[in-house]
Amino acid sequence: MSDRTALVTGGASGIGLATVRALLTDGWRVVAADRDPAALDAARQAFGGDDRVRVASLDVTDEAAVEALVREIAEGFGPLKGLVTSAGIGRDVPFLDTTADLFRQIYEVNVVGTFLVAQAAARAMTEGGAIVTVASVSGLRGNIGRAAYGASKGAVVTLTQVMAVELAPLGVRVNAVAPGPVETPMVAAVHTPAIRAQWHATVPLRRYGGPEEIATAAAFLLDETRASYVTGQVLAVDGGFTAGGIIAR
Ligand code: NAD
Repeated sequence: MSDRTALVTGGASGIGLATVRALLTDGWRVVAADRDPAALDAARQAFGGDDRVRVASLDVTDEAAVEALVREIAEGFGPLKGLVTSAGIGRDVPFLDTTADLFRQIYEVNVVGTFLVAQAAARAMTEGGAIVTVASVSGLRGNIGRAAYGASKGAVVTLTQVMAVELAPLGVRVNAVAPGPVETPMVAAVHTPAIRAQWHATVPLRRYGGPEEIATAAAFLLDETRASYVTGQVLAVDGGFTAGGIIAR
């Protein structure tokens, strides 16, 4: 069995779940961590017979729980060499209606949660490794309604760059994927028909992505052979959204 173990937060749903599958295909052992009990149950059923997968309950904002899980992985499942931080929450609310409370909630999960997991994982990567954060095109552009969410993902981008620089001497590469609109349970909950129409009008490929299309990019960035000289980068997987300006007459 491979000695490459990766932790995927938000690993029971959407992009995280697809990333668990992509990493298994690449030969990783994977710990899928999430805070949603129903999604965790479904993941346990899906991966039940596979001893390369462990499904763990985790709230990424709980510092002690994060440290305990990383310790358990190192002691019981193999040396941690990879991390993908897909746990995240989002809301589409106009700037003038955004409350400080909502801003703090989104920051707590998307920024502080990413920071806590990445710091604990990096400390455990004593033989080197790789981290992939999940940012968003909303962290790279001023998308309407994304004051809190977009600012949180912009912070994830900067955190990724700082980690890449500081962890390079330790043999840990750090990159981000920045998805465009992707068909996941989060999007099903947040994207109204009007929001869907906006994306179809502004994404050059004229469609939403699938979670597996983000997962293959994350798996590439995590791979110590294929991406061995890639660090500090933000890979937009967005159907061309961030390349575009006026895209139709
Ligand atoms: P999703 O809701 O399907 O999956 C996110 C998972 O994160 C859920 O299972 C949820 O339970 C988990 N989670 C949330 N808060 C958590 C916490 N505190 N601790 C542990 N787990 C937690 O959504 P998704 O679309 O797959 O999103 C995954 C990531 O991709 C998020 O960071 C999101 O911001 C980002 N993203 C998504 C899109 C998109 O269009 N779907 C676009 C850009 C970026």
